[in-house]
Amino acid sequence: MVSMILWSCFHFGQQIDSAQIKQIYNFSLTRSSCYENLRSLCKDVGHRLSGSPSAQKAVEWGYDLMSSMQLDSVYLQPVRVPQWVRGDVEKVHWKDKDGNTKNTNCTALGGSTGTDGIIKGKVVEIKSWKELDSLGEANLKGKIVFFNRPMNPTYISTFMAYGSCVDQRHNGASRAGLYGAKAVIVRSMTLKMDHNPHTGSMSYVDSIPKIPAAAISSKDAHELSKALKNDNVKFLSMELSCQQKPDTISHNVIGEITGYQFPHEVILVGGHLDSWDIGEGAHDDGAGVIQSIQVLESIKKLNIKPKRTIRCVLYINEENGNRGGKTYAEIVRKKGEKHLFALESDRGGFSPRGFSIDGTPLQLQFIQGFQPLFEPYQLHLFNKGYGGVDIGPLRNGTTCLVGLVPDSQRYFDYHHAPTDVFENVNKRELELGSSAITSMIYLIDKYGFPDRNDYKQ
Ligand SMILES: [Zn+2]
Repeated sequence: MVSMILWSCFHFGQQIDSAQIKQIYNFSLTRSSCYENLRSLCKDVGHRLSGSPSAQKAVEWGYDLMSSMQLDSVYLQPVRVPQWVRGDVEKVHWKDKDGNTKNTNCTALGGSTGTDGIIKGKVVEIKSWKELDSLGEANLKGKIVFFNRPMNPTYISTFMAYGSCVDQRHNGASRAGLYGAKAVIVRSMTLKMDHNPHTGSMSYVDSIPKIPAAAISSKDAHELSKALKNDNVKFLSMELSCQQKPDTISHNVIGEITGYQFPHEVILVGGHLDSWDIGEGAHDDGAGVIQSIQVLESIKKLNIKPKRTIRCVLYINEENGNRGGKTYAEIVRKKGEKHLFALESDRGGFSPRGFSIDGTPLQLQFIQGFQPLFEPYQLHLFNKGYGGVDIGPLRNGTTCLVGLVPDSQRYFDYHHAPTDVFENVNKRELELGSSAITSMIYLIDKYGFPDRNDYKQ
């Protein structure tokens, strides 16, 4: 019986919901501050790696912006973050047998040690872990290992293609260090053939010697591979001045609108404020930050009165530690705060296609029921899947975690590269993304999640 009432209320509400969602889209596409806020984050602040002065500037930027929005509460949450510093010198070049020097476009991987001068060595190209293991110490000791397994273009989701080879970037230095290699270089994680190097995090295993690691552009990887096949590489040299400094304190930035009916039930929306330090972090994750702030702006400007507390979290340190996400979730657990739902936007500011839902079967089914409301906006993906790195630590079996899913085809053209700049974000696509997440949050706030009993009969 309960289910009949619930579902008939829901269907009766659909017309009202359609009209409200239309208003949300109209506002975002005509009057929102979304695009201007992204310009300001990218140009007034710039890139913002955890622990850097510009990350501190970004924290102040986020705090000031949300403070100007007449929210019910805006505050900073201290987070201990790592402090890796790139330094001024990044060089990878190789000499052919005629003595010509071939320079590459390179970038140190985040977390790498420096080279402490110039490292020179013979290069060994590796396409798989199996190949690495079979060569072993006999063939790798004192060499520079070149990981050149490209992203697989047959995956339609480029995140799948990324997932299939990012292990080289992340673990390559330790896996090669185990066999006595003196350094590693990695083909940039992108499907595009161009001159841009893509950075990203890597990590060491404590018991294995820590050797330096850098990425080179896909075109440079292609050229080097060709020369190796022709036995035309004399040696490769590498110089990096990066270093790991002691941890420092930074902050998550939090702004919220208190719910009028269930103030202790939190609906979270967020993205990460930190970025890599060689672009402007426009898609990754300036877009998600701006869209999350936009949710609060739309609610205020459209005079929507949320029943539950809508909290926007700008997380620090997603890129090289996820300390912001972990610290936030720890505090939630300590305080016993109830989080009904958390949504993250961290897959670029591209045309939204739908949502990836990490929840109970009932939560998934309930959210899929909203799908017809999103049809007019060309959102079709409502599948079970991953929520996001920052909200991941909130996973507890009851909080529903959701990721905004935009079209992924161009994301890895820009990801962690010098081209991840404001100019490469499309205004309409960014606004459509913020409209989609505002609409989803409006619906979750309005209906909550029905209790298990509501589904019986
Ligand atoms: Zn990101």
